[in-house]
Amino acid sequence: MPTPSTAPDRYALVGHPVAHSRSPLIHQLFAMQTGEDLTYELIDSPPDQFETDVRGFAAGGGRGVNVTVPHKEAAFELCNTLGEEAQAAGAVNTISFSAAGLHGDNTDGVGFIRDLTLNQECAIVAKRVLILGAGGAARGIIGPILAENPSALIIANRTLKRAERLRQELNSPEKLTVCRFSELETADGFDLVINATSAGLKGEQPPFPRQLIRNQTFCYDLAYSLKPTPFVTWATACGASRAVQGWGMLVEQAAESFAIWRGKRPDTRPILEKLTDLTA
Ligand code: NAP
Repeated sequence: MPTPSTAPDRYALVGHPVAHSRSPLIHQLFAMQTGEDLTYELIDSPPDQFETDVRGFAAGGGRGVNVTVPHKEAAFELCNTLGEEAQAAGAVNTISFSAAGLHGDNTDGVGFIRDLTLNQECAIVAKRVLILGAGGAARGIIGPILAENPSALIIANRTLKRAERLRQELNSPEKLTVCRFSELETADGFDLVINATSAGLKGEQPPFPRQLIRNQTFCYDLAYSLKPTPFVTWATACGASRAVQGWGMLVEQAAESFAIWRGKRPDTRPILEKLTDLTA
């Protein structure tokens, strides 16, 4: 009698756009490394389709999804239960499906901190930190950055109201202030500048004042690309001490999602080395 074949477990990334994403490759490499049998798809889902697409993927036998731009706040609203980090952030990047419903986690914060502090060896304690952008990704990293005890954290956003709402939802921590990009022209210099806008996905570079960057400033772009991103190009031209893309965060946050879904945390080092070869 033939042995019944078991189909691999299905996962996906839901976002808009998603074509640029390397998450399928990363999860495939994790699966090979850990001996897990799974597939990982891309679902391009405009905002008015997000809920239908997530529920449709679950109904079709999917086990979970990652959520990316611009849906992380919508994913927070959609989930029946939430992990601690997702609850604190008001944003979800990892959904697990079960009979009990949709459970949301946020692995962006731990992924970012691991890459910055371990892979890039850049400490946050006592540093002046600036985050450009106040969307779903910024939400995920703010709490973990504050937990590392910077001297100050400033969030600048194109839409000031969105940044103000975010600060209020976080109970207005003393070290956290918000402003418009234009107000940064008179700000003191920063030790760490993080681009958490999605402008680079369209090849755009918002008008950030160049005096933000000093020769000791470390610049981190959450976005990633096979070529230098617009923010990395800009920061390098402004004289930043280092300007890196978010490849390491991508791999580290993916490893955390994989661990939530499969109960095994992959070793990220060989995967990071493979991706570095791709971008070299
Ligand atoms: P999101 O929720 O849609 O938020 C987008 C943010 O970008 C908002 O603050 C928005 O400002 C700002 N923005 C968009 N276009 C802009 C422009 N032309 N000029 C100025 N500001 C602009 O997206 P997200 O989920 O936060 O993602 C943000 C970026 O982080 C994306 O590039 C994403 O790929 C990247 N990311 C990377 C990783 C990683 O693992 N490396 C993880 C998470 C996210 P308004 O509020 O004014 O609209």
